[in-house]
Amino acid sequence: MTDSISTGQASSEANALQTPPLPQSNWALFLDIDGTLLDIADAPDRVQVPARLLDDLQTAEKKLSGALALVSGRPISEIDKLFDPLKLAASGQHGSEWRPVPGAVTQAVSEAPLPAGLHEAAAKLGNLHPGIVVERKSHALAVHYRNAPDFGAEIGGRLAAAMAGYDGLMLLHGKAVWEIKDAQQSKGTAVGLFMRQPAFSDRVAVFVGDDRTDEDGFHAVEGLGGLAIPVGQLALKRGRGPAFATPAQVRKWLSDFAMRDEAAA
Ligand SMILES: [Mg+2]
Repeated sequence: MTDSISTGQASSEANALQTPPLPQSNWALFLDIDGTLLDIADAPDRVQVPARLLDDLQTAEKKLSGALALVSGRPISEIDKLFDPLKLAASGQHGSEWRPVPGAVTQAVSEAPLPAGLHEAAAKLGNLHPGIVVERKSHALAVHYRNAPDFGAEIGGRLAAAMAGYDGLMLLHGKAVWEIKDAQQSKGTAVGLFMRQPAFSDRVAVFVGDDRTDEDGFHAVEGLGGLAIPVGQLALKRGRGPAFATPAQVRKWLSDFAMRDEAAA
């Protein structure tokens, strides 16, 4: 690995970051996906999932006795396609749905699906430019503009206007994406749900994430006396504590944990 913080070959920015300790057996680990476990791609359906990551996630989940969950803005159905054949405990659509234990049926947390009128308004934004990708979910929607960066402000303005007639929703601005989601649910409420599950309770909650929506998860774990581990720009923004510079470093960390000989640890 040439990008590990500890090799001394990383950028000066990365060198300022403190390397997180390897997970402990009493941790409950919450992992964002895009920009944290996976490198961000041109479009959400073009991300690459290294085969090694699947093995390492499965081993890590076993070593933590089931206290590992993926926490994403993506729907769980999409998470399952990405990580096939793994079906880990997961929260999808920013806390609007969850799967409390691996392999269980996905349950809705949000009471009502997103109104059809909002999906229609968002679909029209796809006509502004071929680089705009509109992602329809049951309890949320996302408009990605990584390949149409000049349209970011216009998309945000139009979505805000479309939301005006609806209560209980929130507009989020992430990395080259605008999202509408249930205002009552977040990655933080997702952490709260998991921490009441037998596999997770009484453990040290640790959240690894790279974007603004992950800050809800950070606040939740810090409120429980746990640890927030930011990745990339979010790490520089927080400017304190352990952090990762890149998703590759997160994957290496998980791999090191999976490979660690527990008898010698
Ligand atoms: Mg992310």
